[in-house]
Amino acid sequence: MNREEIIARLEELNNTSRELEIGREERKTMAGEVTAYADSFIESLAQAKCFTEKEAGNLSINNEKHSFADLLNTYQKEVIETGIIAPSGKHFGYIPAGGIYSAALADFLAAVTNPYAGVHYANPGAATIENEVINWLKKIFNFPQSAVGTLTSGGSVSNLVAFTAARDKFGVKNGEITRSVVYLTEQVHHSAQKALRIIGLEDVILRYIPIDDRYRMLPYDLEAQVKRDIADGLNPFLVIGTAGTTDTGAVDPLDAIADIAERYGLWFHVDAAYGGFFILTSKKDLFKGIGRADSIIVDPHKSMFIPYGLAGVLVKDKNSVFHSNSISGNYMQDAAGEEMAKSPANLSPELTRHFRGLRLWLPLQYHGIEPFVACLEEKLLLVKYFRMQLAELGFELGLEPDLSVSYFRYPFESDAEEKNKQLMAEIHKDGDVYFSSTVLNDQFVIRIAALSFRSKKETVDRAIEMIKRCLAKVS
Ligand SMILES: *Cc1c(COP(=O)(O)O)cnc(C)c1O
Repeated sequence: MNREEIIARLEELNNTSRELEIGREERKTMAGEVTAYADSFIESLAQAKCFTEKEAGNLSINNEKHSFADLLNTYQKEVIETGIIAPSGKHFGYIPAGGIYSAALADFLAAVTNPYAGVHYANPGAATIENEVINWLKKIFNFPQSAVGTLTSGGSVSNLVAFTAARDKFGVKNGEITRSVVYLTEQVHHSAQKALRIIGLEDVILRYIPIDDRYRMLPYDLEAQVKRDIADGLNPFLVIGTAGTTDTGAVDPLDAIADIAERYGLWFHVDAAYGGFFILTSKKDLFKGIGRADSIIVDPHKSMFIPYGLAGVLVKDKNSVFHSNSISGNYMQDAAGEEMAKSPANLSPELTRHFRGLRLWLPLQYHGIEPFVACLEEKLLLVKYFRMQLAELGFELGLEPDLSVSYFRYPFESDAEEKNKQLMAEIHKDGDVYFSSTVLNDQFVIRIAALSFRSKKETVDRAIEMIKRCLAKVS
């Protein structure tokens, strides 16, 4: 091509490519349509069914153009009206989701301006925001300033980062793997076993420590097992405690586990993905000893009501984190530790990534912490209120919960197991309020997990009405 041909071709290409830079009027229209949609979504939540058992329709990509209004329509029908409406206050299943508006706007801002948050040099401000969120987490969990941390997409990846650090600190590789021991309980979230497999530790020895009647690890049994393993010439290296299990919200005796970890030189990891932020509430005594952990994970996309895609991991031993994640090699780690910790990419498997710190930093700066804490206290109390009403209806309840997860079943006179499953099915068919189930002590139970910032007293009243309705269909 000669110069003129190149210029002509560029003009031609520009006629099409410039469509990606939408003009001001169109931006305004589209943004208006999205916020109008968001408004009607939010305003419909209290009435809309929380759960619809329905498959998605055709969402394939086939190079046809659609109007923005049509796309929003498709989104509503094929996404929102299928499955669980996660940010509904009526979501009491699994671990309910957040989705506060200020965080959504932070995401919008982060996406439009798209600063490079992975490397401090590329955007010192964005990297600093990521690091200030980490600093804030360190304060909350009594971790020293010298600890490092990173923001990941979720608790599963955070577990992975922490276990990788533990692995590298203890040199668990090659022949060491099959004689190395990890201590946990059956209540540990499955992302822990998954992370161990991913990082090449599938063949470590997993010791499931007995639990008490509230599903908390028994420290005496932990210590006895560690002693046996040492006597047998094994290599105990990691104990996983949970501060708020997914199934029952149980908080393991963290301080007692920390004692044992210290005594035998184990890496103590605390999975606080769901429960961590309850340390800010009247339940803080349950978290005693959490600051003695070697690593901790926490999910702001759970108990800080942020949209999906934000978890934190803190690790005290920074060199072990740099070992696997730092791009500039181990030889720099002591000299440049402080400098290296400024760039999230040195502490995380990710390099280029969403500027996710903003979605927590901005809401905290805008709302302050008080509404978040009040919201968590409210969830604790809502579960109490719910349990009281269930008791009046004759339900069997689990023991007084540590946090905002509890469970129940109806004592049907015959076929109780089968009929509780039927009750669960009726609840799902009804769909107004969503609950999920689990199996505890070989019994089918229905769970309540209160964690939505939109769950209120009225929501619980409505749930009770639904349960009465469904119970009448089974008994
Ligand atoms: C949710 C959860 C996880 C996994 O976190 P994701 O953000 O879903 O990846 C890990 N541990 C516990 C205790 C959890 O509740």
